[in-house]
Amino acid sequence: MGLEALKEAIDGLVGSDAAACADPEAFIELERLAARLDAHLSAAAGAFDASGIWADDGARSAPAWIATRCRLPRAEARRQVRRGRALRHLPLVARAWASGEISGSHVDALAALCRPHTEAALERDEPLLVRQARRLRFEHFARALAYWEQHADPEGTEDAEMARRERRDVFLASSFEGMWLGRMTLDPISGAIVSTELDRLEQELFEEDWGKAKAELGREPKAHELWRTPPQRRADALVEMATRSRSTPADARRPEPLFSVLVGWETLAGRICQLAQGAALAPGSLVPWLDRAWLERAVFEPGGRVEVAASARLFTGGTRRAIELRDRECTHPYCDEPAARCQADHIIPYSEDGPTTQENGRLLCPFHNRLRNQRPPPDDSG
Ligand SMILES: [Zn+2]
Repeated sequence: MGLEALKEAIDGLVGSDAAACADPEAFIELERLAARLDAHLSAAAGAFDASGIWADDGARSAPAWIATRCRLPRAEARRQVRRGRALRHLPLVARAWASGEISGSHVDALAALCRPHTEAALERDEPLLVRQARRLRFEHFARALAYWEQHADPEGTEDAEMARRERRDVFLASSFEGMWLGRMTLDPISGAIVSTELDRLEQELFEEDWGKAKAELGREPKAHELWRTPPQRRADALVEMATRSRSTPADARRPEPLFSVLVGWETLAGRICQLAQGAALAPGSLVPWLDRAWLERAVFEPGGRVEVAASARLFTGGTRRAIELRDRECTHPYCDEPAARCQADHIIPYSEDGPTTQENGRLLCPFHNRLRNQRPPPDDSG
């Protein structure tokens, strides 16, 4: 079985100093090995599930048996068995996981696509999806899967999107000592509208706090030297939203697009669109918004160039907007700060005669804008 050998190897490893695995190469290798072990564990859970042996102890299911005997949360036991079952239908996924190229999170995301409607498409596209899982950062992979799902099961995703919107819910109630407690559940479009505005206001407050601390200290402040924490600023931003709403006349003209939907040629061929914040959308989910929406026309051309109709956006130039729509987030590979918090940066600096064009522009968050000259970011297309 090899378990003895594994036990010896692990004894040796945990007996050694963890700092030995702290250099980048060793750490990545350790993650890979952990993924491989995880893959084997799930395959074993799948086989255990299929064996039916768990019933001998009176357990009603394999996860119930595992949860009791291994003292795991039910959800974790169920996840192991679910992964094990999924692997039986996804041989290439199983192989990629067993070799440590992808992780259990990838398998969960792929397993969630297994439905009667998608079965044939999934079998056909498994090599493509595994390739994406190996290549892309996880969030970009998840987005690619959402696209794929819209292609493979358009009715299913549209229904799911409508069901998501049905679940929208805001709860705010006063509690002990007059404190207010709340909870929000928003569908992708509503969430994008609210979070974009909340982010924008929080950024305003942040700049205010930063300026004040800088003036008091006479130097660049550290984050903990600001008088409010980020959650406190978010709370104040929400109150600011309410205050501004109250002072805006009911017939005021809406100043700018509330949210952006990116529509590529695939929409015309198939049915794909996505929010500028990244969530893939079923086109039908836009219908409730059409009478209130601003429509902005942007054409995605081959080679990644974006043309924005010049009159489409009032407050910034078409070039900046095109870069925002193309990049959508900080382009540094270790970052996903949204476009609203990024600056459009010259790739070849302006001081070195770099032109102010779309091709020479990219989004960088303030942090990575300062870092930009220290190391060229590796290529990450996605
Ligand atoms: Zn960044």
